[in-house]
Amino acid sequence: AKTWVLTHHFEGFPKDSNFELKLETLPEPKDGEVLLEALFLSVDPYMRPFSRVRMNEGEVMIGTQVAKVIRSNNPVFPLGCHVVGRCGWRTHTVSDGAGLTHLLSDWPQDVSMSLALGAVGMPGLTALYGLEEVLGLKAGETLLVNAAAGAVGSIVGQIAKIKGCRVVGSAGSDAKVAFLKELGFDEAFNYKTVGSLEEALKSASPSGYDCFFENVGGPFSSVAIPQMKEYGRIAVCGSISTYNDATPQTGPYPHLTMIFKQLKMEGFMVSRWEHKKPEGLRRLITWMREGKLQCREHVTEGFENMPAAFMGMLQGGNIGKAIVKV
Ligand code: NDP
Repeated sequence: AKTWVLTHHFEGFPKDSNFELKLETLPEPKDGEVLLEALFLSVDPYMRPFSRVRMNEGEVMIGTQVAKVIRSNNPVFPLGCHVVGRCGWRTHTVSDGAGLTHLLSDWPQDVSMSLALGAVGMPGLTALYGLEEVLGLKAGETLLVNAAAGAVGSIVGQIAKIKGCRVVGSAGSDAKVAFLKELGFDEAFNYKTVGSLEEALKSASPSGYDCFFENVGGPFSSVAIPQMKEYGRIAVCGSISTYNDATPQTGPYPHLTMIFKQLKMEGFMVSRWEHKKPEGLRRLITWMREGKLQCREHVTEGFENMPAAFMGMLQGGNIGKAIVKV
Protein backbone atom coordinates (compact mmCIF):
# COMPACT_ATOMS: atom_id res chain seq x y z
CA ALA A 1 0.00 0.00 0.00
CA LYS A 2 1.07 3.56 -0.65
CA THR A 3 0.33 5.93 2.21
CA TRP A 4 0.81 9.61 2.96
CA VAL A 5 2.11 10.23 6.45
CA LEU A 6 2.00 13.48 8.41
CA THR A 7 5.68 14.09 9.24
CA HIS A 8 5.20 17.20 11.41
CA HIS A 9 2.09 19.01 12.60
CA PHE A 10 1.20 21.94 10.35
CA GLU A 11 2.48 25.35 11.38
CA GLY A 12 0.72 28.01 9.33
CA PHE A 13 -0.12 26.99 5.77
CA PRO A 14 0.76 23.32 5.00
CA LYS A 15 4.02 22.62 3.15
CA ASP A 16 5.26 19.68 1.07
CA SER A 17 7.59 18.79 3.94
CA ASN A 18 4.58 18.07 6.19
CA PHE A 19 3.90 14.95 4.10
CA GLU A 20 5.87 11.83 3.22
CA LEU A 21 4.87 9.09 0.79
CA LYS A 22 5.55 5.70 2.39
CA LEU A 23 5.15 2.12 1.25
CA GLU A 24 3.58 -0.36 3.63
CA THR A 25 3.35 -4.14 3.33
CA LEU A 26 -0.13 -5.25 4.31
CA PRO A 27 -0.94 -8.53 6.08
CA GLU A 28 -3.32 -11.02 4.46
CA PRO A 29 -6.90 -10.22 5.55
CA LYS A 30 -7.93 -12.51 8.41
CA ASP A 31 -11.36 -13.97 9.10
CA GLY A 32 -13.89 -11.10 9.15
CA GLU A 33 -11.52 -8.75 7.32
CA VAL A 34 -11.46 -7.31 3.81
CA LEU A 35 -8.79 -5.82 1.55
CA LEU A 36 -9.81 -2.48 0.04
CA GLU A 37 -8.46 -0.66 -2.98
CA ALA A 38 -9.06 3.10 -3.04
CA LEU A 39 -10.73 4.54 -6.14
CA PHE A 40 -11.36 8.13 -4.99
CA LEU A 41 -10.07 10.02 -1.98
CA SER A 42 -11.43 13.18 -0.44
CA VAL A 43 -9.43 16.23 0.57
CA ASP A 44 -11.35 18.40 3.04
CA PRO A 45 -10.74 21.56 5.07
CA TYR A 46 -11.29 19.74 8.41
CA MET A 47 -8.03 17.84 7.86
CA ARG A 48 -6.10 21.02 8.65
CA PRO A 49 -7.52 21.70 12.17
CA PHE A 50 -8.37 18.04 13.03
CA SER A 51 -4.86 16.77 12.29
CA ARG A 52 -3.67 18.78 15.29
CA VAL A 53 -6.20 17.31 17.74
CA ARG A 54 -6.83 13.84 16.29
CA MET A 55 -3.40 12.79 14.98
CA ASN A 56 0.16 12.18 16.06
CA GLU A 57 3.17 12.95 13.89
CA GLY A 58 4.19 9.90 11.84
CA GLU A 59 0.61 8.68 11.37
CA VAL A 60 -1.20 8.23 8.05
CA MET A 61 -3.23 11.38 7.19
CA ILE A 62 -6.89 11.14 8.17
CA GLY A 63 -9.51 11.04 5.43
CA THR A 64 -12.36 9.30 3.69
CA GLN A 65 -12.32 7.32 0.44
CA VAL A 66 -14.50 5.33 -1.91
CA ALA A 67 -12.95 1.89 -2.22
CA LYS A 68 -13.57 -1.47 -3.86
CA VAL A 69 -13.41 -4.71 -1.90
CA ILE A 70 -10.74 -6.75 -3.73
CA ARG A 71 -10.49 -9.60 -1.21
CA SER A 72 -13.12 -10.53 1.35
CA ASN A 73 -13.39 -12.72 4.40
CA ASN A 74 -16.42 -10.75 5.61
CA PRO A 75 -19.89 -11.59 4.23
CA VAL A 76 -21.17 -8.07 4.99
CA PHE A 77 -18.70 -6.65 2.44
CA PRO A 78 -18.44 -9.23 -0.37
CA LEU A 79 -15.84 -9.21 -3.12
CA GLY A 80 -16.43 -6.44 -5.66
CA CYS A 81 -18.70 -4.25 -3.55
CA HIS A 82 -18.00 -0.54 -3.05
CA VAL A 83 -17.73 1.19 0.29
CA VAL A 84 -17.09 4.59 1.82
CA GLY A 85 -14.49 4.29 4.53
CA ARG A 86 -12.47 6.41 6.91
CA CYS A 87 -9.24 4.71 5.86
CA GLY A 88 -6.96 7.74 5.63
CA TRP A 89 -4.67 8.67 2.76
CA ARG A 90 -3.84 5.15 1.58
CA THR A 91 -4.26 3.16 -1.63
CA HIS A 92 -4.95 -0.17 0.08
CA THR A 93 -6.35 -1.00 3.49
CA VAL A 94 -7.03 -4.15 5.48
CA SER A 95 -10.22 -3.49 7.42
CA ASP A 96 -12.44 -5.42 9.82
CA GLY A 97 -15.40 -3.44 8.52
CA ALA A 98 -15.49 -0.85 11.32
CA GLY A 99 -16.26 2.59 9.90
CA LEU A 100 -17.15 1.21 6.47
CA THR A 101 -20.53 1.92 4.90
CA HIS A 102 -21.97 0.53 1.70
CA LEU A 103 -22.60 2.88 -1.17
CA LEU A 104 -26.37 3.33 -1.63
CA SER A 105 -27.58 0.01 -3.07
CA ASP A 106 -29.22 1.65 -6.09
CA TRP A 107 -26.30 3.96 -6.93
CA PRO A 108 -26.93 4.93 -10.58
CA GLN A 109 -24.46 3.32 -12.99
CA ASP A 110 -23.92 6.56 -14.89
CA VAL A 111 -23.06 8.62 -11.78
CA SER A 112 -19.47 8.73 -10.53
CA MET A 113 -19.06 7.04 -7.16
CA SER A 114 -16.85 9.96 -6.16
CA LEU A 115 -20.05 11.92 -5.43
CA ALA A 116 -20.34 9.76 -2.30
CA LEU A 117 -17.52 11.95 -0.96
CA GLY A 118 -19.25 15.18 -2.01
CA ALA A 119 -22.79 16.17 -2.93
CA VAL A 120 -24.17 12.73 -1.98
CA GLY A 121 -21.90 12.35 1.01
CA MET A 122 -20.62 14.24 4.03
CA PRO A 123 -20.50 17.73 2.42
CA GLY A 124 -24.01 17.35 0.96
CA LEU A 125 -25.38 16.27 4.34
CA THR A 126 -23.59 19.20 6.00
CA ALA A 127 -25.44 21.55 3.66
CA LEU A 128 -28.77 19.81 4.24
CA TYR A 129 -28.61 19.67 8.04
CA GLY A 130 -27.17 23.16 8.37
CA LEU A 131 -30.16 24.51 6.46
CA GLU A 132 -32.89 22.31 7.92
CA GLU A 133 -31.81 21.42 11.45
CA VAL A 134 -29.78 24.47 12.43
CA LEU A 135 -31.24 27.37 10.45
CA GLY A 136 -34.77 26.04 9.94
CA LEU A 137 -34.76 27.84 6.59
CA LYS A 138 -38.24 28.77 5.33
CA ALA A 139 -39.53 29.58 1.85
CA GLY A 140 -39.25 33.25 0.98
CA GLU A 141 -36.29 33.92 3.25
CA THR A 142 -32.98 35.41 2.11
CA LEU A 143 -29.87 33.32 2.76
CA LEU A 144 -26.21 34.32 2.63
CA VAL A 145 -23.54 31.64 2.12
CA ASN A 146 -19.77 32.11 1.78
CA ALA A 147 -17.19 29.76 0.24
CA ALA A 148 -20.28 29.32 -1.92
CA ALA A 149 -18.64 27.61 -4.91
CA GLY A 150 -17.13 24.85 -2.78
CA ALA A 151 -18.34 21.38 -1.85
CA VAL A 152 -20.70 22.47 0.93
CA GLY A 153 -21.52 26.00 -0.25
CA SER A 154 -22.61 25.02 -3.76
CA ILE A 155 -25.08 22.50 -2.32
CA VAL A 156 -26.29 24.95 0.35
CA GLY A 157 -27.27 27.48 -2.30
CA GLN A 158 -29.01 24.93 -4.52
CA ILE A 159 -31.03 23.39 -1.67
CA ALA A 160 -32.05 26.88 -0.56
CA LYS A 161 -33.31 27.53 -4.11
CA ILE A 162 -35.25 24.22 -4.03
CA LYS A 163 -36.84 25.50 -0.81
CA GLY A 164 -37.95 28.72 -2.49
CA CYS A 165 -35.46 31.12 -0.96
CA ARG A 166 -33.45 34.05 -2.26
CA VAL A 167 -29.75 33.13 -2.23
CA VAL A 168 -26.66 35.33 -2.12
CA GLY A 169 -23.22 33.73 -2.41
CA SER A 170 -19.67 34.93 -2.13
CA ALA A 171 -16.63 33.19 -3.63
CA GLY A 172 -13.02 33.92 -4.49
CA SER A 173 -12.87 34.18 -8.31
CA ASP A 174 -14.91 35.44 -11.25
CA ALA A 175 -15.13 31.89 -12.63
CA LYS A 176 -16.69 30.81 -9.31
CA VAL A 177 -19.15 33.71 -9.45
CA ALA A 178 -20.17 32.64 -12.98
CA PHE A 179 -20.65 29.08 -11.67
CA LEU A 180 -22.91 30.33 -8.86
CA LYS A 181 -25.06 32.19 -11.39
CA GLU A 182 -25.31 28.96 -13.42
CA LEU A 183 -26.51 27.18 -10.28
CA GLY A 184 -29.32 29.70 -9.91
CA PHE A 185 -27.95 31.90 -7.12
CA ASP A 186 -29.85 35.21 -7.20
CA GLU A 187 -26.74 37.25 -6.43
CA ALA A 188 -23.07 36.33 -6.32
CA PHE A 189 -19.88 38.33 -5.94
CA ASN A 190 -16.12 37.86 -5.76
CA TYR A 191 -15.11 38.83 -2.23
CA LYS A 192 -11.50 39.34 -3.34
CA THR A 193 -12.22 42.06 -5.91
CA VAL A 194 -15.44 43.58 -4.62
CA GLY A 195 -13.79 46.46 -2.79
CA SER A 196 -16.16 47.04 0.10
CA LEU A 197 -17.62 43.75 1.39
CA GLU A 198 -20.19 45.74 3.36
CA GLU A 199 -21.43 47.51 0.23
CA ALA A 200 -21.52 44.23 -1.72
CA LEU A 201 -23.63 42.56 0.96
CA LYS A 202 -25.96 45.58 1.17
CA SER A 203 -26.49 45.86 -2.55
CA ALA A 204 -27.08 42.08 -2.91
CA SER A 205 -29.85 42.29 -0.31
CA PRO A 206 -30.74 45.83 0.79
CA SER A 207 -33.23 44.55 3.38
CA GLY A 208 -30.61 42.25 4.98
CA TYR A 209 -30.41 38.50 5.56
CA ASP A 210 -32.69 36.12 7.46
CA CYS A 211 -30.11 33.32 7.47
CA PHE A 212 -26.33 33.11 7.14
CA PHE A 213 -24.57 29.80 6.41
CA GLU A 214 -21.08 30.57 7.66
CA ASN A 215 -18.14 28.68 6.18
CA VAL A 216 -15.38 31.28 6.37
CA GLY A 217 -15.21 33.15 9.72
CA GLY A 218 -12.69 35.88 10.48
CA PRO A 219 -13.23 39.37 9.07
CA PHE A 220 -16.01 38.18 6.71
CA SER A 221 -18.21 37.40 9.74
CA SER A 222 -17.55 40.72 11.39
CA VAL A 223 -18.84 42.48 8.27
CA ALA A 224 -21.68 40.05 7.49
CA ILE A 225 -23.29 39.78 10.93
CA PRO A 226 -24.34 43.45 11.05
CA GLN A 227 -26.19 42.82 7.74
CA MET A 228 -28.55 40.33 9.39
CA LYS A 229 -32.23 41.13 9.81
CA GLU A 230 -33.80 41.24 13.25
CA TYR A 231 -34.13 37.69 14.69
CA GLY A 232 -31.73 36.43 12.01
CA ARG A 233 -30.15 32.96 12.37
CA ILE A 234 -26.53 32.03 11.75
CA ALA A 235 -25.27 28.46 11.27
CA VAL A 236 -21.55 28.27 11.98
CA CYS A 237 -20.37 25.43 9.77
CA GLY A 238 -16.74 26.38 9.23
CA SER A 239 -14.10 29.02 9.66
CA ILE A 240 -11.69 28.25 6.84
CA SER A 241 -10.13 31.72 6.80
CA THR A 242 -8.67 31.00 10.24
CA TYR A 243 -7.50 27.37 9.91
CA ASN A 244 -3.94 28.26 8.94
CA ASP A 245 -3.48 31.05 11.49
CA ALA A 246 -0.43 30.58 13.66
CA THR A 247 -2.08 32.55 16.48
CA PRO A 248 -5.84 32.55 17.15
CA GLN A 249 -7.70 35.60 15.88
CA THR A 250 -9.45 37.85 18.35
CA GLY A 251 -12.49 40.03 17.55
CA PRO A 252 -13.90 42.40 16.73
CA TYR A 253 -17.01 40.49 17.76
CA PRO A 254 -20.30 42.09 16.76
CA HIS A 255 -21.91 41.40 20.15
CA LEU A 256 -23.93 44.59 20.18
CA THR A 257 -25.46 43.71 16.81
CA MET A 258 -26.24 40.24 18.13
CA ILE A 259 -28.07 41.81 21.07
CA PHE A 260 -29.90 44.64 19.31
CA LYS A 261 -31.02 42.40 16.45
CA GLN A 262 -31.63 39.42 18.79
CA LEU A 263 -29.70 37.06 16.51
CA LYS A 264 -29.27 33.34 17.05
CA MET A 265 -25.92 31.69 16.24
CA GLU A 266 -25.23 27.94 16.46
CA GLY A 267 -22.16 25.91 15.63
CA PHE A 268 -22.67 22.37 14.39
CA MET A 269 -20.95 19.22 13.17
CA VAL A 270 -22.57 17.03 10.54
CA SER A 271 -21.97 13.94 12.72
CA ARG A 272 -24.80 15.11 15.05
CA TRP A 273 -27.32 13.66 12.58
CA GLU A 274 -25.52 10.37 11.84
CA HIS A 275 -28.75 8.50 12.61
CA LYS A 276 -30.53 10.30 9.74
CA LYS A 277 -27.82 9.70 7.17
CA PRO A 278 -29.56 7.17 4.85
CA GLU A 279 -32.66 9.38 4.54
CA GLY A 280 -30.55 12.48 3.87
CA LEU A 281 -28.42 10.75 1.23
CA ARG A 282 -31.54 9.45 -0.48
CA ARG A 283 -33.00 12.95 -0.74
CA LEU A 284 -29.73 14.33 -2.12
CA ILE A 285 -29.44 11.65 -4.78
CA THR A 286 -33.11 12.12 -5.73
CA TRP A 287 -32.59 15.87 -6.22
CA MET A 288 -29.51 15.08 -8.29
CA ARG A 289 -31.40 12.63 -10.51
CA GLU A 290 -34.20 15.18 -10.94
CA GLY A 291 -31.62 17.69 -12.18
CA LYS A 292 -32.21 20.00 -9.20
CA LEU A 293 -28.71 19.54 -7.82
CA GLN A 294 -25.66 20.10 -9.98
CA CYS A 295 -22.69 18.30 -8.48
CA ARG A 296 -19.45 19.77 -9.78
CA GLU A 297 -16.11 18.23 -8.87
CA HIS A 298 -12.51 19.35 -9.09
CA VAL A 299 -10.64 16.11 -9.77
CA THR A 300 -6.88 15.71 -9.29
CA GLU A 301 -5.42 12.58 -10.88
CA GLY A 302 -2.95 10.40 -9.01
CA PHE A 303 -2.51 9.35 -5.39
CA GLU A 304 0.94 10.95 -5.40
CA ASN A 305 -0.78 14.34 -5.80
CA MET A 306 -2.80 14.15 -2.55
CA PRO A 307 -0.82 16.90 -0.74
CA ALA A 308 -1.01 19.18 -3.78
CA ALA A 309 -4.77 18.61 -4.06
CA PHE A 310 -5.20 19.33 -0.35
CA MET A 311 -3.14 22.51 -0.39
CA GLY A 312 -4.76 23.61 -3.66
CA MET A 313 -8.22 23.27 -2.09
CA LEU A 314 -7.17 25.31 0.96
CA GLN A 315 -6.01 28.03 -1.47
CA GLY A 316 -9.34 28.01 -3.33
CA GLY A 317 -8.18 26.16 -6.46
CA ASN A 318 -11.35 24.03 -6.51
CA ILE A 319 -14.79 24.71 -7.98
CA GLY A 320 -17.11 22.18 -6.36
CA LYS A 321 -15.80 19.21 -4.39
CA ALA A 322 -12.04 18.58 -4.38
CA ILE A 323 -11.42 14.89 -5.13
CA VAL A 324 -8.37 12.76 -5.88
CA LYS A 325 -8.74 9.91 -8.38
CA VAL A 326 -6.20 7.20 -7.75
P1 NDP B 1 -14.61 23.95 -0.15
O1 NDP B 1 -14.88 23.02 -1.26
O2 NDP B 1 -15.50 25.13 0.04
O3 NDP B 1 -13.09 24.39 -0.27
C1 NDP B 1 -12.56 25.34 0.57
C2 NDP B 1 -12.82 26.76 0.00
O4 NDP B 1 -12.64 27.71 1.02
C3 NDP B 1 -11.81 27.17 -1.06
O5 NDP B 1 -12.17 26.71 -2.34
C4 NDP B 1 -11.83 28.68 -0.96
O6 NDP B 1 -12.78 29.21 -1.89
C5 NDP B 1 -12.36 28.95 0.45
N1 NDP B 1 -11.35 29.66 1.23
C6 NDP B 1 -10.09 29.28 1.52
N2 NDP B 1 -9.46 30.22 2.25
C7 NDP B 1 -10.34 31.22 2.42
C8 NDP B 1 -10.29 32.49 3.06
N3 NDP B 1 -9.19 32.91 3.71
N4 NDP B 1 -11.39 33.28 3.02
C9 NDP B 1 -12.50 32.87 2.38
N5 NDP B 1 -12.61 31.70 1.75
C10 NDP B 1 -11.54 30.88 1.77
O7 NDP B 1 -14.61 23.14 1.23
P2 NDP B 1 -15.85 22.44 1.92
O8 NDP B 1 -17.07 22.80 1.18
O9 NDP B 1 -15.52 21.04 2.15
O10 NDP B 1 -15.90 23.17 3.34
C11 NDP B 1 -16.43 24.49 3.47
C12 NDP B 1 -16.47 24.85 4.95
O11 NDP B 1 -17.36 23.96 5.63
C13 NDP B 1 -15.12 24.74 5.66
O12 NDP B 1 -15.03 25.80 6.58
C14 NDP B 1 -15.23 23.42 6.37
O13 NDP B 1 -14.38 23.34 7.47
C15 NDP B 1 -16.69 23.40 6.74
N6 NDP B 1 -17.25 22.06 6.99
C16 NDP B 1 -17.87 21.85 8.19
C17 NDP B 1 -18.49 20.67 8.47
C18 NDP B 1 -19.20 20.52 9.76
O14 NDP B 1 -19.65 19.41 10.09
N7 NDP B 1 -19.34 21.57 10.54
C19 NDP B 1 -18.46 19.55 7.51
C20 NDP B 1 -17.84 19.89 6.23
C21 NDP B 1 -17.25 21.10 6.01
P3 NDP B 1 -12.72 30.76 -2.37
O15 NDP B 1 -12.04 30.73 -3.71
O16 NDP B 1 -14.16 31.12 -2.44
O17 NDP B 1 -11.92 31.52 -1.37
